[in-house]
Amino acid sequence: MTTAVTTAVTTIYLNGQFLPLEEARISVMDRGFLFGDGVYEVIPVYSRRPFRLHEHLHRLQASLDGIRLANPHTTREWENLILRSVELAESEDLGLYLQVTRGPGPRDHAFPKQIQPTVFILPLPLTPPAREGVESGVAAITAADNRWLRCDIKATALLPNVLLRQLSVDAGCAETLLLRDGFVSEGSSSNVFVVANGLLLAPPKSNFMLPGITYDVVLELARQEGIAHEIRPISEVELRAAGEVWITSSTKEVLAVTTLDGQPVGDGRPGPLFRRMHAAYQDYKHSVMRGKGNA
Ligand code: PMP
Repeated sequence: MTTAVTTAVTTIYLNGQFLPLEEARISVMDRGFLFGDGVYEVIPVYSRRPFRLHEHLHRLQASLDGIRLANPHTTREWENLILRSVELAESEDLGLYLQVTRGPGPRDHAFPKQIQPTVFILPLPLTPPAREGVESGVAAITAADNRWLRCDIKATALLPNVLLRQLSVDAGCAETLLLRDGFVSEGSSSNVFVVANGLLLAPPKSNFMLPGITYDVVLELARQEGIAHEIRPISEVELRAAGEVWITSSTKEVLAVTTLDGQPVGDGRPGPLFRRMHAAYQDYKHSVMRGKGNA
């Protein structure tokens, strides 16, 4: 009888080298560590095919521009690094975590004179949302959005999001939906959609929310499916009266929120538009996996 030995080694990319995670080292003077001075992306990979790669690289560029950090790589270089990371990964499905910080320097808020950005790519296994969550929906709470005014930048400085997310963990819920000045901005790590009187509502992209890649996919699918929708601010009143509430992200895909602050949303079960959208999303994802869709 043979005994299974776990030999899984996670190979990461750090500043020009692919190496085992255990061997990766950065300076304690890295501004990512000292100030959270960096940006990141999470790119889903299905059957070793990155999903919406160009959209993620485009958003990375926007985040880098937002923090005034020159992109250390061309699109072609990023593609090569990402495809190599995917090849070296154990798993076929990944949440590819990619981070760029302003690198090491003296502990001074002002940018260092010489900048050597730190580039890190970590392949994380991707677990699709649990069947239970898809079939029954998930519970969420609301909280005041106390983050800064550049939520469109995918910054590694996530302390407000961490604290807001923990509120829902403490309440045994899957997400915290954020309210700013009486309007829904997004979730602590997801975008939010609402169905009001059969009409799908999405908040407009602004500095109050991250422009989600999944948000764009959902709106594209709504157009394709002929689902009536409007992109406009969603008030707290509309959120609380909604027939359906959805959250979207690269790892959550599309999930129905069926309980909000302890109250049922609609009839407390995932609604008909959610079921249509979820099916359309799965079809689209599978077409991308088979190499037929526009990944
Ligand atoms: N908003 C926030 C604050 C997030 O952290 C995320 C996911 N990381 C999203 C929205 C959803 O973005 P995406 O669909 O690109 O994963």
